[in-house]
Amino acid sequence: MPVETGADRPEMVRFDKVVKRFGDHTVLDGLDLSVGRSERVTLVGPSGSGKTTVLRLLMTLERVTDGVIHVDGQPYSHMHAGRAGSLAPADEKYLSAPRRRIGMVFQQFNLFPHMKVLENVTEAPVHVLGLSREEAAERGRELLDLVGLDDKHDAHPTRLSGGQQQRVAIARALAMRPDVLLLDEVTSALDPELVAGVLDVLRDIAASTDVTLLCVTHEMGFARDISDRVVMFDHGRVLESGPPEQLFEAPQHERTQTFLRAVH
Ligand code: ADP
Repeated sequence: MPVETGADRPEMVRFDKVVKRFGDHTVLDGLDLSVGRSERVTLVGPSGSGKTTVLRLLMTLERVTDGVIHVDGQPYSHMHAGRAGSLAPADEKYLSAPRRRIGMVFQQFNLFPHMKVLENVTEAPVHVLGLSREEAAERGRELLDLVGLDDKHDAHPTRLSGGQQQRVAIARALAMRPDVLLLDEVTSALDPELVAGVLDVLRDIAASTDVTLLCVTHEMGFARDISDRVVMFDHGRVLESGPPEQLFEAPQHERTQTFLRAVH
């Protein structure tokens, strides 16, 4: 049975016995995981335990080897079964409607360097969602305000700090109005003094929107603040899961205790 969602919420994402292998290396080993609508779930665990692979499967950047992923009750992981290999981000305009409900912010911000900040945020809504330039710009300005970059609309990303670039990437992901936002170690590439600003923006977004959040992070303080539920991964499976106060203060498994001691 999938790990139950933390509250009585409709299910937004479900991994059902999902296996992912790279050659003969099994990265996800029959993963059961369920995330409720508007739930904030953080995946923690040792490096190499399969956390990022979970996000990449949801972005259809990888394909499952076995098992099924459901998004909002619809089988999702077979959606691209006919395609050879993984989808490149450049294929975005061909993505299915369910896939468009999911957005991701990466460790490396991946902004378009030749476009101004506002253009970075409006590009996909215009070309993928079909918004008019005016509508997309209006929404883009609101989002740049939300991430604290109201004075940077016309700047080029290369002129911004890493923290500011990551905030543009967050605004860009939200501009697609995702139901589910995936955050993959979004502060790992930042200088330490820029981390807090980005995490504050994400806390604001969690507090002011109903987006479902699935995060991979080593920032345990952030995980504690933002999460309804923290899921401890080990060897491609869920070792244990619970509200942050339970998982951080009274972990059931020795391996969780060892992991938490090492990252604190
Ligand atoms: P985590 O996010 O928990 O650190 P990952 O999901 O990034 O773990 O990776 C899990 C394992 O899968 C690692 O051992 C990694 O080397 C391997 N892996 C990830 N992507 C690939 C790939 N494209 N090809 C081969 N191995 C991969």
